[in-house]
This record gives sequence, structure tokens and C-alpha cells, in this order.
Amino acid sequence: LQQLSFPLQFLGWQARELKAALIDLENLFTLLQQQPTVRDVPDARPLSLRCGGEIRFENVSFAYDKGELASGRPVLRRVSFRVPAGKRVAIVGGSGGGKSTILRLLFRLYDPLEGDIYIDGQNVRQVTQSSLRAAIGFIPQEAALFNDTIFYNIAYGKVHAAAEEVVAAARLAKIDATIRAMPQQYDTLVGERGIRLSGGEKQRVAIARAILRNPRILCLDEATSALDSKTEKEITAALDELGQNRTVMMVAHRLATVVNADEILVLDGGRIAERGSHSELLEMRGLYYDMWQRQTERATQEVPSENGQLLE
Ligand code: ATP
Repeated sequence: LQQLSFPLQFLGWQARELKAALIDLENLFTLLQQQPTVRDVPDARPLSLRCGGEIRFENVSFAYDKGELASGRPVLRRVSFRVPAGKRVAIVGGSGGGKSTILRLLFRLYDPLEGDIYIDGQNVRQVTQSSLRAAIGFIPQEAALFNDTIFYNIAYGKVHAAAEEVVAAARLAKIDATIRAMPQQYDTLVGERGIRLSGGEKQRVAIARAILRNPRILCLDEATSALDSKTEKEITAALDELGQNRTVMMVAHRLATVVNADEILVLDGGRIAERGSHSELLEMRGLYYDMWQRQTERATQEVPSENGQLLE
């Protein structure tokens, strides 16, 4: 029996490695699923950020299933807006209203069925996808983590990143202290094989990745999962830091995070129903005002005041 013990142990080890490899593969497929259904046009040129990253949506309509556009039930209908270079625009609205779809279209995971999207005057259909993706830091709701060290997971945004750069990015993303409290700090394994990170921690890893890549444009899809107030504040602080001197488009679920946005778009049924600054929208006493009232009522212990400060 003893003679069998080593081979069995070996098999057990192999099985664990195989499982981990399968999880890596699963992560890869998740990433591949994010790959575009679009192609570069034959004479595609690299995107030139000559005006600092201005975004323009012009009468954009979209449906995942083309039949929905024909039947008049598209996900987005004639959406137009402009984000001046270096400004921050937030998109809010009810679930399924098409908020994340706007970010996906900007990143050109899909093409609009009608209308056009421009960055610094160049139609995103006409530029190379590699240059478009290099210009945009995309922070999804649920960042995919690799079964590797936390260092690898942050540095994934930039091949050959120096250790100091990774630590600096983690600091800005407000995740450095959490990492230093881990058993092997930056060498700690995360993901299925190692330490499981919370939703908020995963999002901060994604923020650190984006910081490292230093993109001109930032697209953030705020996590819908409930975060505790400390984590929420840390993420908001990290994003404020990251948003400096960049064009930012963010989908927000917590209105407290959008009060400082230069413009807020309220999406309803695929249309922009209201737009303006936080105070302008409150004055309108429309959809945004109702959402604000509901969120204020729901927050029993932490009450966002009208200027967006959380009162504890
Ligand atoms: P939430 O706040 O819940 O994240 P959202 O406003 O971001 O919602 P989207 O994710 O943009 O909404 O989705 C808009 C609509 O498109 C929804 O009805 C959704 O079910 C549908 N949808 C989203 N992704 C796909 C997809 N890949 N294929 C088909 N339909 C999709």
C-alpha cells in the first residue's frame, strides 16, 4: 500500500494542476468572449489622440438582435452625446436600460446598427482595433482574474512592468495595503488556486491594471454588487485619482459616485431621457430626482446629502 501512496499523491497533484489549468482556460475563454465581433476595415489607420480624447456619439441605435431594431425595440435609440477631452460623463438609469452597451460600443465590441461614434473626430469603425483598445482603459463590472500572483494580475495591463510601477499603481488604486496584509504580499496567488478576492478588491485590481496602462480614455462599469461603505469610498477615491486629466465615461449604479461628474446622462428605455449636472437634474424633479430620493431613503445608516457627501 505504501508503494502506491506516492503515485496516488502524484496523481492527486496532477489532478489539481489539471483543474487549475482548466480554470486558466476558462478565464481565457471569458476574455476571448469579450473579443469583438467586428473586423478592421482594409485601410484602417491607428487612432490619433490629437485632441486629447474627445468622445462623440451621433444618433447611435443598437440591438443585439437586428430584428429588435426592425420591431422598434432596440437597446439604444438615437443616442447622441459628447464627452469633451478630459471631462467625466456618467450614465445612470434602470437595470437593462443599455448603459453597459454604450461602453461596449465605444470599445467596439460591437458596431452600432445606425449612427456613428467618434474619438477625436475619427470614426471608431475606421481605426485599428489595437490602437482603439490601447487608448481606452476598460474596467468591467467583474474583472477576470488569472490563477497567478497578484503581481501578475496587476502587471497584466503592461508586459514587462517594473516592480515599482506595479506597487505605485496598486497604491493609487487603494489596494496596496490589502496586498501587503496578504501572506506573501505581491507574490500571493489569487483566483481559484489562491486567495479569493472580493468584488471590490477585484475591481481595484482592474483599476490598478488600467493605471499601469495609462490610457487617455477610461471606461468604467461600476460593480452592481453591494460594497461596504469603506470599500466604496476607497474605490471612489481611486477613480477620482485615475480620472485626473483623462476622459472618463462611467456607468454608475450608486448616484453618490456621480455627483461630481461634468454631465450625467439618464438612460431610460434606450433613450437619453434627461441630462445635466447633479444639481441641474435634481432641479428638474424628473427620473434622476426620483432615483436620488429612492437611494437616499434606502441608505438607512449612510445618508447621501444633496452635495453627495455620505453622512454617517
Ligand atoms: P444593468 O444596470 O443591469 O447592468 P444596463 O443598463 O447596463 O443594465 P445593458 O447591459 O446595456 O443594460 O443591457 C441592455 C439590454 O440588452 C438588456 O435587455 C440586456 O438583457 C440586453 N443584452 C445585454 N447584453 C446582451 C448580449 N450580449 N446579447 C443579447 N442581449 C444582451
